[in-house]
Amino acid sequence: MIRTDIDLGRTGKQQGYLQVPYSHNLGGWANVMIPITVIAHGAGPSVLVLGGNHGDEYQGQVAIMKLARALTEGQVQGRLILIPSLNFPAALASTRLSPIDGMNLNRAFPGDPHGPVTSQIAHYLAHELFPICDAVIDIHSGGRSMDFVPCSHMHVVSDRVQRQAMLDAMLAWNTEFCFLYTDIAGSGLLPVEAENQGKTVITTELGGSESIPASVHRIAHDGLVNVLRHLGVLDGQIQSRTSMGLAPSILTQALEARNYLLAPESGIFEVCVELGTKVSVDEPVARIHFLERPDREPLQIVSPKHGYLICMRSPCKTQQGDCIAVIAEEVSVESVMKS
Ligand SMILES: [Zn+2]
Repeated sequence: MIRTDIDLGRTGKQQGYLQVPYSHNLGGWANVMIPITVIAHGAGPSVLVLGGNHGDEYQGQVAIMKLARALTEGQVQGRLILIPSLNFPAALASTRLSPIDGMNLNRAFPGDPHGPVTSQIAHYLAHELFPICDAVIDIHSGGRSMDFVPCSHMHVVSDRVQRQAMLDAMLAWNTEFCFLYTDIAGSGLLPVEAENQGKTVITTELGGSESIPASVHRIAHDGLVNVLRHLGVLDGQIQSRTSMGLAPSILTQALEARNYLLAPESGIFEVCVELGTKVSVDEPVARIHFLERPDREPLQIVSPKHGYLICMRSPCKTQQGDCIAVIAEEVSVESVMKS
């Protein structure tokens, strides 16, 4: 049901919209208009770059808008499809979920062409855009709910060739930390759909909250450019952490449910160590305080493993069952490829 004036097979730079039918009280024949830029030139890979899968995550949206304005046809070999604000209604509303159908786009795959707007977007990606691309880049951050050590991340997919390609591309973001994660909160994720189609999938968690330091915006932009060069779709010198005079990335993984700490009770969340800190098993990493019972000792949350505090809850107000911290243990590239 989604249509566009963009010709995905055409050479050159095009700016347009994906138009999603959306009938509402004050717009019977209205469309949601999702901005899209396509730059195609010569032979090379097709790469899809997505931001705003969650509307309250701005790092990718800003980096992709910068690239979409700056890039010329001559800098591209192959085809670059740039969608800065994928869940456009959510981006406009600064919300994680779509305000018009309440759906989480990152739980909506493979989608439904006759469903709500969010389902239609998922279906269009899964059936029209993923099949014509070699690589899919989906830029996330923690939004308003979580704060991550800025990192590129990936699933450990079962196909070794795909896993190696994803590992190499993840490392090409040149973040201090890289993170192997598992899905503890539902199914229907965008990267899983792209992985199942055999694509090289690169994802990130570039910090969080709405207070984004300039350094994190730089990581978003420079990392994205370097990954596009690594994939061969963008010209220019490929950088590595070594060539930049930096220590290698710290590769971490959180592949068990117990790596993801949930609040046992509602209260006020206090983190006890800095993000990116190395912690030991049973070391206190957080406390939960009780506003109604200031006389009650806070509940102490301890690390289940030796590892790094890779992610923490952003708002202090916490409900029972919220994810308040993620502990990821260090692993080697070799062990990831052997597992
Ligand atoms: Zn996200």
